[in-house]
Amino acid sequence: MKKNSNMKIQNQRMGTVITNSDSSNMRAAMDKVAESLTHTISPVAKEDDTPIDKSVLIRTTEAERERWKQAAAAEQISLSAWIRDRLNSAASKVLDCEHPESMVRRYPWSVTCTKCGKRLS
Ligand SMILES: [Zn+2]
Repeated sequence: MKKNSNMKIQNQRMGTVITNSDSSNMRAAMDKVAESLTHTISPVAKEDDTPIDKSVLIRTTEAERERWKQAAAAEQISLSAWIRDRLNSAASKVLDCEHPESMVRRYPWSVTCTKCGKRLS
């Protein structure tokens, strides 16, 4: 995180704005925001019952965040669920091979896709 940058934290539920000119106060500011949040969504992923207990803090513009919220609302899911779905799809495209079995070569030491070169095991 850039030092001495002006930090502005918007709590979307409470409408609280905390302005911080010193990044050393970031932790205290985040704690204050966290205290005012109420958990309204299921704390486990529905697919495999894994606890959803990790957070990713990202920066974005107000316009982008509003569009993401609109998209999530249109699909009647939480913003967190909407973002997780999109990021899981993007990660899958990067990390997983989607080519047919005929393109997979199996060796005693590895299983590799001949199309994308990804090592599958
Ligand atoms: Zn492949």
